[in-house]
Amino acid sequence: MTDPSSPASSPVWHPFTQHALQPKMQRISRGLGAWLKTDDERLIIDAISSWWVITHGHCHPRIVAAIRDQAERLDQVIFAGFSHEPAETLAHKLLEIVPDGLDRVFYSDSGSTAVEVALKMALGYWRNTGQPRTRILALEHAYHGDTVGTMSAGARGVFNAAYEPLLFDVERLPFPSPGDEQATLDALEAACREQNCAALIVEPLVLGAGGMLVWSADCLREMRAICDKYDVLLIADEVMTGWARTGTMFACEQAGVTPDILCSAKGLTAGHLPLAVTLCSERIYQAHYSEDRSKTFFHSSSFTANPISCAAALANIELWEDQPVLERVGDLVGWQSAALAKFEGDERFANIRQSGTIAALDLVVPDAGYLAEAGLALQAFFLDCGILLRPLGNTIYVMPPYCITSEQLDQIYAAIAEAPEIVGAGSR
Ligand SMILES: *Cc1c(COP(=O)(O)O)cnc(C)c1O
Repeated sequence: MTDPSSPASSPVWHPFTQHALQPKMQRISRGLGAWLKTDDERLIIDAISSWWVITHGHCHPRIVAAIRDQAERLDQVIFAGFSHEPAETLAHKLLEIVPDGLDRVFYSDSGSTAVEVALKMALGYWRNTGQPRTRILALEHAYHGDTVGTMSAGARGVFNAAYEPLLFDVERLPFPSPGDEQATLDALEAACREQNCAALIVEPLVLGAGGMLVWSADCLREMRAICDKYDVLLIADEVMTGWARTGTMFACEQAGVTPDILCSAKGLTAGHLPLAVTLCSERIYQAHYSEDRSKTFFHSSSFTANPISCAAALANIELWEDQPVLERVGDLVGWQSAALAKFEGDERFANIRQSGTIAALDLVVPDAGYLAEAGLALQAFFLDCGILLRPLGNTIYVMPPYCITSEQLDQIYAAIAEAPEIVGAGSR
């Protein structure tokens, strides 16, 4: 008799998972604060905020209560021709939080769709204003999602090789490595002179899936200036960086810039439910505002502005308003710095870096492909230590929920200190 709960008999196909190499999925039955609990009652510290979504902590009682309350009143309603209070209140609240100059809020349901919407808004803007601009500029190592449009804007590699022939071409700018930003700015300016540029899309200050690559706010400010000079739209993909991951509510704030379009998802509902927004300036909205139907913004998802998700996002913003969350973030930033400082001079690690609450360091390994093999062993080791960490290649990063304690963080870094031994790294 087959056990229906045994992984071997599960019909579930997991994301970014090679089932032939990883036959067993760890089952989780509860989440609370920074903890996850396995179905065999073991506690695990969620050191990556469940893939960068959880901000305050798992199952926050105020967000859970808002979800429960909204679910009893209105579950879902078509959002074309209809509206509802949670979506409208949330839109107003969001405009109070984001950089000045963003005026309109378009709802969708994931980071990828928020970016697709951003790209479509930019292209629609140029079409509707009678200028044939279609070229998208993007950074080397960028990640913007896994749909065909967002993969096109993202870096090419093993993850999208199969689809490469169908991806659209973008102008790729070199990553602005600290100290070497001028090459990026020169490439941006050269590209902008070509006339056909519709928009530049960036992950402000930190490229997430590309390996937690940190870059400067000054460079972002200069990019904004070049975009202004050539009238190229700037899209900020803040799907990961938003909601204070980089220390400020949105990463753009540190550069003092307002993008023409800003994408937010992940932490929007504190990571409790799927919801995304694409905010844009009035000028982009006005380019679509017309009695000419052909200028309509033709985009929708079935669950656009789902009322329960909107209620969760509203409860999230209320927490930011009436609890000292930014202070907690500030503490976490300090703890992360202190933890990283202990790795300075340790030859088994390189490229120690931090942006706000995000800390990252690279394992020194014999060759780059090496950790592709060792990665699973490393994840299993961390799990045995009671910690959820998921290195990106040889990059180990810690992006915890803001409720994490300094003791829990100590536990995470104690495990990281043992990681080189587990994979035989540091010995060339
Ligand atoms: C996660 C992520 C996305 C995609 O978001 P999903 O909700 O997973 O579709 C897009 N952009 C960035 C920068 C991300 O980190």
